[in-house]
Amino acid sequence: GLGPRVAAADDVRNLLLSPAAGLDPQARMDVRPLAAQLLDLLQDSPALHALSAKFALQLDGGEALAMREHPHDLWLAAEDDQHLLLGLAGCPMDTPLARIEASQALELVRQLLLLFLELATPEQSRMRQLLAQVPADELLQRLQARLDFALQPAPATWQPAATVERAPAGIYPQAQAGLCMVAAGAQLGRLHAEQLTTLAELSERYGDGELRLTPWQGLLLGNVPESASRELLAALGELGLLTHIDEPLLGLVACTGSAACARGLADSKQHALHLAELLRASHARPQVHLSACPRSCASARVQPYTLLASTPDHYQLYQRTPAAPGFGRLLAPALTIDEAGAWFARQHPA
Ligand code: SF4
Repeated sequence: GLGPRVAAADDVRNLLLSPAAGLDPQARMDVRPLAAQLLDLLQDSPALHALSAKFALQLDGGEALAMREHPHDLWLAAEDDQHLLLGLAGCPMDTPLARIEASQALELVRQLLLLFLELATPEQSRMRQLLAQVPADELLQRLQARLDFALQPAPATWQPAATVERAPAGIYPQAQAGLCMVAAGAQLGRLHAEQLTTLAELSERYGDGELRLTPWQGLLLGNVPESASRELLAALGELGLLTHIDEPLLGLVACTGSAACARGLADSKQHALHLAELLRASHARPQVHLSACPRSCASARVQPYTLLASTPDHYQLYQRTPAAPGFGRLLAPALTIDEAGAWFARQHPA
């Protein structure tokens, strides 16, 4: 189940849904059946294998455990249990463009992707690039001409579902009575083979045999009997996973860095561990992305704070703000990790 049925489809199976899909009590729709259909569509349609490996879809069921801010080429968000809203080159926090019945979603996506491939030039591999040339309303008109159902107007006011503010860790209620979800983070996104072997055993012993990866570089085990959840959480902690919501490392993302990447100016993973150590002594639990060069491999979305390496021992500190593009506003041009830790601690003194 990890790989594609067809090798050529491997790059295009980019569909993000909540790790709590089908389990989250806040969800407006169980999107798993549609997600399975969309993956089949991407795998089994040779014409769609021409999509860029970066072209990505998001299917939002309205779960609380979801990452909604991550931009996608095409997104669908549940308005209720029957209807989906469509957006392009953005995320479900944006204004939707149209509304459809959930039963129409598969055909809508098929026709939209084929239309994209027809219209896009070789330089336009992403939806935002096509929209710079073909406005969204014109694209929707062309899409409508290919559909045998009507695209409905998007609602005048759209309220995306509420979402968690921090990477989840701990025990979470589940829609199904007597069961719960248990989430944990992988330290700086790394899981070792021995950890995975034990996780597979734990999932079979306590859950339903599934391991769900989360967009916060962690794992979620669902369908765990409430009576066994604390025992499972303790076992995950013993395995070296991050199981306490107050753990500073849950808020830190770091790229491979100079330890294993030729482009890296600094050892960002090691520096992130050091920063976490400093943060433990304060109440500060910032969300920070440490990037050892401007390519920003570890985080496609801009994090509230970015530390961008400028020398092997110094970082520029940026704060995300709508007013400034890229990583945001430059707060400090050259901080050591000790200085950065002290700066964050001053924002939230112990
Ligand atoms: S962000 Fe730069 S240094 Fe870090 S992994 Fe990517 S290319 Fe390498």
